Amino acid sequence: MTSRADFIVVGAGSAGCIAAAELIRREAGSVLLLEAGPTDNSPVVKMPFGLVWMMGKRHRDWCYKSTPQTHLGGRQLNVTRGRMVGGSGSINSMVWFRGRKDDFDNWQLPGWSWAYVEPAFESIEARLTPNRMQGAHPVTEALHSLFPEHGTTPPSPEYESAGVFAFNMVNGRRRSAADGFIKPNPPGLTLVTGQEVDRVLFDGDTARGIRLVDGTELNANKGVILSAGSIGSPSILMRSGVGPRADLAALGIEVRHNSEEVGKNLHDHPAAGLHFAGPGSGYGITPAQMPGWAAAPFQYLMTRRGRFASPTVEGGGFFNARGLDEAPDVQSHFIPFMLGWEGKRYVYGSGYFADVCVCRPKSRGALRLTSRVPKAAPEIDLGVFNDSSDMDTLVAGLKRLRILMDQVDFGTRHAPEAFPGPTVQSDEALRDHIRDRGATAYHPVGTLRMGEGDAPVTPRLTVRGVQGLWVADASVMPAVTSANTNAPSMMIGHRAGEFIAEDCA
Ligand SMILES: Cc1cc2nc3c(=O)[nH]c(=O)nc-3n(C[C@H](O)[C@H](O)[C@H](O)COP(=O)(O)OP(=O)(O)OC[C@H]3O[C@@H](n4cnc5c(N)ncnc54)[C@H](O)[C@@H]3O)c2cc1C
Repeated sequence: MTSRADFIVVGAGSAGCIAAAELIRREAGSVLLLEAGPTDNSPVVKMPFGLVWMMGKRHRDWCYKSTPQTHLGGRQLNVTRGRMVGGSGSINSMVWFRGRKDDFDNWQLPGWSWAYVEPAFESIEARLTPNRMQGAHPVTEALHSLFPEHGTTPPSPEYESAGVFAFNMVNGRRRSAADGFIKPNPPGLTLVTGQEVDRVLFDGDTARGIRLVDGTELNANKGVILSAGSIGSPSILMRSGVGPRADLAALGIEVRHNSEEVGKNLHDHPAAGLHFAGPGSGYGITPAQMPGWAAAPFQYLMTRRGRFASPTVEGGGFFNARGLDEAPDVQSHFIPFMLGWEGKRYVYGSGYFADVCVCRPKSRGALRLTSRVPKAAPEIDLGVFNDSSDMDTLVAGLKRLRILMDQVDFGTRHAPEAFPGPTVQSDEALRDHIRDRGATAYHPVGTLRMGEGDAPVTPRLTVRGVQGLWVADASVMPAVTSANTNAPSMMIGHRAGEFIAEDCA
């Protein structure tokens, strides 16, 4: 393979597809979009319930694990990351939230306040047409009874609200950044799958191309854009010699630019949940529901409804963990399925599940390379609960979740809490529950923070210390947004396309 492209974009994920498409739309030059994983041409990707079969399978998931988490009793968490065209946006639940307006204002970076990012969201939404899920389970619909003043509109992180979420699904099918922006392939854009990038190549301090894991070198006339996500992009950057000097030197990597913060500031939304079980409540495995499961594939094919049209998470809400008259500080995801607990994937019976996650966690971890060899997984310390206030908020959030779940008008579908169960009441017992079962929401961000001063990436998304190299993905978020991170990652891809086209004009 050879390249005469103006730009090489590494990673065809949520942000990378949009950055690439924007560069083409703005006539900034030709683009070679390289993706390590396979295409997304599969019914398992398109069918919302299909994520259940993709997660944990190396074909479409990088299957990373965190380091043992000190405040989770030494447990290692799954760090699921999509490995295919569409990236994590092809394996996710498609919940669509821009975030809170002041998430972006609080970044306090030129070009990133709400007034600047809103048009990018609007432009993306015009293509992907996210909307309130059709055909949600009645127990999910019942969540709207909590805050009836909002009717049946999807909840918002701006105020306390609950109900069926909006999703980037159209007619029961996933509509990812890849679907919306690079299909059909715009002229000037070449997508190549199955090509894993090892590192960036430089002429002096200027990025001139990339080296693939198989040793192939590819040139880019105008520059390289890293869109390999919060785990992939800092790993590639460090293998390219940009990162903390001592760490790189210890691995025998020639240091091109000492950037101490590369890999730092890793964070995610910490989460823990409650399981509810009762006959006739949510989806589950019972004799009465067996005909429904047997019919599910046909129902999906014919009507795009039913279990297989469910992205598992169907709704939830936002509330203040301590019930204060303040902005929501926790989000809840509601899954109208009986999920297993105590290590079991499935449990017999009908039920539903609701979690709570901290909207603005204060804990920070770090990502480090373990080897200069590209196939070696990095060390991913999510730093969960390094700041004890996150644990306090989650404990308060679980207590409030219990109260709210009791108030939902589920009618005859109401199910009592089955796990951890009503005996787990004290703060200490809830802390133990979180320690033993808590996880994160698969929203890792921040490993290539953009900012002023020593931040690895500038607010124009250029990598500090070198030329012709940009980052466009969730890794640049200085602080995670208050809700799910797919739409904000896409927005970053969109802004990247704007900035790079302007800067290379
Ligand atoms: C299971 C799961 C559920 C989620 N649910 C939701 C949800 O419902 N709503 C929501 O808003 N967010 C959700 N998220 C999070 C959201 O999908 C991500 O925040 C978002 O997709 C991140 O976009 P990105 O562009 O930063 O990275 P990605 O979309 O992950 O893209 C990175 C791409 O780079 C590729 N890549 C990596 N390394 C290399 C390399 N060396 N060479 C070439 N290519 C490479 C990857 O294969 C991938 O395609 C979920 C995530 C997961 C994993």
